[in-house]
Amino acid sequence: MIEFKEFYVKPQLPEKLKKLNELAQNIWSTWDSDAYRLFSRIDPKLFRKYNHNPIKLMEKVPQSRWQELENDKGFIHEMETVYKMFIAYLSFHPEKNQGGTGLTKDDVIAYFSMEYGLHELLPIYSGGLGILSGDHLKGSSDMGIPLIGFGLLYRVGYFSQRIDTDGSQLASYPENDWISKPIKTLKDENGKDLVVKFQIRGEDIFAKVWEVKVGNVSLYLLDSNIEENNQFYKTITDDLYVADQAKRILQEIFLAYGSIEVMKKLNIKPKIFHLNEGHSAFLIIKRLNDLINEQKFTFEEASEIVKSSTVFTTHTPVPAGNERFDMNLIEYFLKDKIEALGISFAEFSEYAKLQNSNFFWMPVLAIKFSDYINGVSKLHSKVSKKMWQELFPDYFIDEIPIKAITNGVHIQTWLSRTNTRLFDRYIGNDYKHMSGNKKMWENVLEIPNIEIWEAHQRRKEQMIGFLRERLIKSLIYTPYFSQKSGKANNILNHNKLIIGFARRFATYKRATLILKDPERLIKILKNPKMPVQFIFAGKAHPADNDGQDLIRKIVEFAQNNNLEDKFVFIEDYDMNIARHIVQGVDVWLNNPIKPNEASGTSGMKAGLNGVLNFSVLDGWWPECYNPKNGWAINAGENVENQEIRDKLEANQIYDLIENEIAPLYYTRDKNGIPMQWVNMIKQSIYDVGKNFNIHRMLNDYCEKFYIPASKKINTITADNYKKLKEITKFDKTIYENWDKINFVKVNLGLEENSVLSSGETVTVKTEIDVANIDTQYLKVEVMYRYNRNDYSIIPLEMVGKKDSIVSYSGNIQVKSSGKQFINLRIRPDFENIKTLPKVKWYFQTEAK
Ligand SMILES: *Cc1c(COP(=O)(O)O)cnc(C)c1O
Repeated sequence: MIEFKEFYVKPQLPEKLKKLNELAQNIWSTWDSDAYRLFSRIDPKLFRKYNHNPIKLMEKVPQSRWQELENDKGFIHEMETVYKMFIAYLSFHPEKNQGGTGLTKDDVIAYFSMEYGLHELLPIYSGGLGILSGDHLKGSSDMGIPLIGFGLLYRVGYFSQRIDTDGSQLASYPENDWISKPIKTLKDENGKDLVVKFQIRGEDIFAKVWEVKVGNVSLYLLDSNIEENNQFYKTITDDLYVADQAKRILQEIFLAYGSIEVMKKLNIKPKIFHLNEGHSAFLIIKRLNDLINEQKFTFEEASEIVKSSTVFTTHTPVPAGNERFDMNLIEYFLKDKIEALGISFAEFSEYAKLQNSNFFWMPVLAIKFSDYINGVSKLHSKVSKKMWQELFPDYFIDEIPIKAITNGVHIQTWLSRTNTRLFDRYIGNDYKHMSGNKKMWENVLEIPNIEIWEAHQRRKEQMIGFLRERLIKSLIYTPYFSQKSGKANNILNHNKLIIGFARRFATYKRATLILKDPERLIKILKNPKMPVQFIFAGKAHPADNDGQDLIRKIVEFAQNNNLEDKFVFIEDYDMNIARHIVQGVDVWLNNPIKPNEASGTSGMKAGLNGVLNFSVLDGWWPECYNPKNGWAINAGENVENQEIRDKLEANQIYDLIENEIAPLYYTRDKNGIPMQWVNMIKQSIYDVGKNFNIHRMLNDYCEKFYIPASKKINTITADNYKKLKEITKFDKTIYENWDKINFVKVNLGLEENSVLSSGETVTVKTEIDVANIDTQYLKVEVMYRYNRNDYSIIPLEMVGKKDSIVSYSGNIQVKSSGKQFINLRIRPDFENIKTLPKVKWYFQTEAK
């Protein structure tokens, strides 16, 4: 076989245009609308053809075009303007009183994720989790948060999707071509590719390190595909979410152990480690390894340091969706590393176990070693508390420390260019760095309806043009639609209502719920007065046959009923398609089985663009929905039986479309504008923009986690780890003596069956045998639950002490009315900076 040696020739830009190179190397240019327009101006067709990749574009532009541009004063001026904005962007560092976060440059946060959705040109993401990670980096850059991302660089990444004639999904795995992308290998002091080394089962393993520049934030991606690795290890980072468990463990070890080696090489010393999902939880073991084996801390001290500096974000509300591994496999790969901690494998595995399950659960390990845990919406946090309740047996469920930080989206990435122009004009452009400023959003309500409507119509037409082009392009490869190829040019009408549905085809998202009653759906689609059109897009994981069936059913329905012009499935869902659809349709449908959707961010992207949400009250939507900004699907909420629930919710969807959505859309004033609809668009942009932007989310992370964690780390490391040593001593005392402390006497101030009046005061008194525990380490409290979901904690004061018997007392003012509940408890506390998962309740059944 003849083979050729590959080499690369950089495009030669005229001197005057060299700044384009620098711009193209930073992901900033993909989200800033002026930079986008600049590159698009070079050659709009090529730019689209090459996935909006500025580097690829520059490779392909003919030399003659460069000569033209070099002499085009207008272009040069635009380039200089964009470049100035880029430099200004990079140097933006607000002080705390100017809206800054209060983090200093030493509060470095290392952020870990298996996937990053930054742009379609870097296909190393599969869905919402990745998009969130990407937006997290972008937002951090906007706000000046000192964050660094770590992940894997997949040789083939997530698969490409095509749909066959019969509606089956065909997966292909095109190899990524990094050379033409804004990503570079790091170099060592000799100019060679930087390679880090670590061991798995005593064997050396190597990783090459790439960097993506996301504004001011660096994302480091590890790559196993290098000469130094053996044939098998070379393939570790081939694919995202491989089904093979051993390979998956290797990937996750690779991410954890490799990232720390990169930090050492680059002298990065993070204060905080943020694990986005359980995939990166081996980082905990690696950090324990370093703290114990290199820095000579005890296991207890090392654990305390890790806990105090780890943030864990969970995303998966069903146990089965959470990452867990066969215990034997974990033992096989990690036993030596765990034993190096001075603890047996069996003992350590308890940190990752659930009752009645012998798996090694990654999120359990993460929860046990993180002081800062959150779900990604209020509802999800609640569901997570329930789901992980067994890990906190002494806790009242509402107090389980899994906070809620609702996701947000990066405005500049997801806001259409037509809307960007409106925003810039009406609300100024502060939102680019600080969209967390709520007041600013009120200006949205002042935008004239006609401008809102016209911007939306323009965007809708652009989307339809794009989708037609995509369909025609896909005809080249696959027979789907081919018999009707002429029709591809005529799909979708911009004067008619369009409902969009695009997301991963996981079964819980019920993509085919709308097909429940096909006759009724056909009536809706073909309604002569108020016709409705649908657009679908999404990939099913190649191992998920049920998900693939859903795609087939949608394609078949359109084909069998000759509805391909108004019930459209678009292949190969990615960020590009997502952007077009969330900006261009009229309504965004989301009908997951509640409460399986942890947050959902596509609805935020849609709502921000004035695309009205029509969604099950799951994930983020209950926090945003009101009748002025969208519609709620809830008919089956309290029904256990899935079949009945589906039926009820499908019917509600049909009813709402027929009776509310379509009539509202088709009711026009004399200028043809649906004024009521446009009012809803404005309300949607306002409500979503104000509360579900990434800067608001990052402010929450800063306030709830990053800043407290940074303070705590400073506290426990000061004076040569003085507090750390005290805390570990406190831990030890509590654990050794906990069983000895007891309530000796309790007087709740309530008679048997007492009935009180609101406002009355009750005095609670108790005597406690505190055994050998210093009373400064104990909090004695009353938990008073006065409504179903409301409670207050009333601390009791120490009023006397005799030997080890200590008396406490306090007053409770009764409020509200009806049935109420009270309990008394003792819990360990170290100077308000450390508590333990131990709580002794007065009313408590024996632990199993
Ligand atoms: C936003 C986005 C998602 C997440 O959508 P959900 O509705 O939250 O599932 C998935 N994939 C892509 C390409 C996206 O842009």
